[in-house]
This record gives sequence, C-alpha cells and structure tokens, in this order.
Amino acid sequence: MPYKEGLFGAPLFLCYIAFMLLDTYIPAAFIFLYGLAIGSFLNVVIFRLPRHQGIAKGGSACPGCGNAIKWYDNIPVLSYIILRGKCRACGTRISPRYPVVELLTAVLLTAIYFQLVWIGSPYGGLEPAWTAAWILRLLAYLWFGAALIACAFIDAEHRIIPNRIVFPTFVIGLVLLLGANYHAWTRMLLGILAGGGIPLLLLLLSPLLLKRQGMGMGDVKLGATMGLFLGWQLVLLAIFFASLFGSFYNLPKMFGGPEKRRQVFPFGPFLAIGALTAFFVGMPIITWYLGLFSL
Ligand SMILES: [Zn+2]
Repeated sequence: MPYKEGLFGAPLFLCYIAFMLLDTYIPAAFIFLYGLAIGSFLNVVIFRLPRHQGIAKGGSACPGCGNAIKWYDNIPVLSYIILRGKCRACGTRISPRYPVVELLTAVLLTAIYFQLVWIGSPYGGLEPAWTAAWILRLLAYLWFGAALIACAFIDAEHRIIPNRIVFPTFVIGLVLLLGANYHAWTRMLLGILAGGGIPLLLLLLSPLLLKRQGMGMGDVKLGATMGLFLGWQLVLLAIFFASLFGSFYNLPKMFGGPEKRRQVFPFGPFLAIGALTAFFVGMPIITWYLGLFSL
C-alpha cells in the first residue's frame, strides 16, 4: 500500500540522510578544517626547511618586525582576511602564499578523501569505507597530498626538493600502503622503478639534448615516491602530464635567449600537479585508452 510505504519511507529516508551525514560528510568537514591547520603547518615547513631552521622550534614571527604572531592572528585564511594581508604590529605585507597554501591544502585533502570514498585508490579500494585497510590508505594519500604541496612550493622558490620531505614520505607510504594491501607490492615496486627511472633517464640524457640540467636528483627521488603511491600506470601518466604542463609553461622562455632560458621553471611543481591529475582522473583515462584496443 502506497500510504504505508510513504509513512515508513520518509523516516527511513531521513535516517539514510542522517547516516550519510555522519558517515561521509561530517568526516569530510573535519578533514577540511584539519586541512587548514595542516596547510598552516606546511607554510612553516615551506619557509623554514630550505633555510635550515628548526620546524618545531619557536612560534611564528613577523619577518618584518620580528614580533611574535599571536594565536588569534594565526588562524588559517581568516586572520589574513581580517588583517588585510598586513602585520598587526608593523604593517609589513604578508605573502598571499600563506592563505593560498592553507586553502589549497584543505581543498586537496578533502578531495583526496572523496576520491577514496567514491572512486577508490590506485591499489584498489572497493571495500566499504572505514575498514582498517581503507583508513591506512586514506592516511597514506593525505600525507602524499600534503608532501606534494610542500615539495612544489619549496622547489618553485629554491629549486630543491628536500630529502627531509621525500624520504619520510616514501617510508610512510611504503608502510601504510603495504599495511593496507601487501599483495600490491609488485605493482608498487614497478611504480617506484618507472617513477624514478624515467626522470633518471632524462637526467642522464639532458646534457646531450639540451646542454643544460633539465632535471635534478630531487626529481628522480620524487618520481620514485610518486610511483610508490600511484603504481606504474598512473605514474607514467603523471610524468606525461608533468612534461605536458611544464612544456606549455616553459616553451615561451625556451625560445627567449640565454637570459630567459635561465628562468625556466623547475620540474618539481609540475611533477606534483601531474601526480595529482593522475590520481584524480588517471584511472578513467587509462580505462578509456585500453578500451581503444579492445574490440
Ligand atoms: Zn611585523
């Protein structure tokens, strides 16, 4: 009887909505807020790590006047808007990089969460969310996303990809992803070899091709780490995207004489963008591409 169905259907539907909220969207909101805080920490890493300053040592201080920044002036994104991008004490402009990194981190980590909830990870993820394996994978890819942001911004400014970020990321990824599914170890190994091997090949060939170092060992180590997280198929796609985006960005400078050529952008940020592109849209692309050959 339709009346009865309606009577019981509505509360059931509300229960379903409540369950969805509790199970999926409240954790998402939590990850977004936590992502803002992680972004705030990444700002510290991005500023201090290449300058060989202790990361845990001391609170934030204004680079202009050296005054300690109070906690209420250190709230991610909000404080920047309230202070209109200036130090409260001396009025020195605060780099817009700070709120950008905070917001970018929050959005990226939330997107990684939804990718794992709805679509899965490169090493599978078809089991329902909140199993132990799924949580290990979530932690691995959240760390991966945060590490990519730090590497991209540090490489853009200083042209180094710090071992102090890449090595821990590799070890943490290895432990968490093997913990989630140790059967995937062969695919991980192939990913590491492909992700590290191609930049290494380009690094060895670049003096012959371009008479300049196109890539550094930092790119090789970052590529190998990306391969661990993405597997060999997605890391190949990631390097392809990175080269594509990098070429688009650097091509005008390559033809601009020696002065312009020296301004060519480092490869690390493009590797990071390529890795994220492959992580989010790589699997549909590979399925489509393989579909071209299966009649
Ligand atoms: Zn100041």
